[in-house]
Amino acid sequence: MEGNRCPMCGAIVPDGLIRCRDAFNEVCAREYSDPGFGAVHQLTVDAYALQHSEEHGPRSNAFHLSRLGRLLERGESPALGRRPTRAAGKAFESRYRGFPVLEAPASRGALTIADVHGAEDPDDHARRVWAWARSVWEAYRPHQVWARASIESGS
Ligand SMILES: [Zn+2]
Repeated sequence: MEGNRCPMCGAIVPDGLIRCRDAFNEVCAREYSDPGFGAVHQLTVDAYALQHSEEHGPRSNAFHLSRLGRLLERGESPALGRRPTRAAGKAFESRYRGFPVLEAPASRGALTIADVHGAEDPDDHARRVWAWARSVWEAYRPHQVWARASIESGS
């Protein structure tokens, strides 16, 4: 018997869980409770969101791809962050409305949340999450030109 396959990212949902989202929630709970795991939290959020576009708003691919590009190519820290200030939140909302609607690729990456779920320790977790994030960035190659231009322009 093959497990439950996610219709969006193609993952075989880990045993005992119903949906991919349950695995994501468990990984996030670990990242929130242990700073060692939380050190790669933003990569987890971006990779998961880009593989599950249908669960998010139409401009979410653009937002997450642009941030993923900054994390992977500009060396920004993917650690669990503080909440943005109210002013930063407002500025972000107006930028967000200008983002294009980027269609998710047919294949969204060779690795999924199932490859990340259940890491042994923070180092193992970080290794898995970085590999997952790179596989998603690679899958979105057709939109990388847009993402790099967006990063250049500071948005
Ligand atoms: Zn999935």
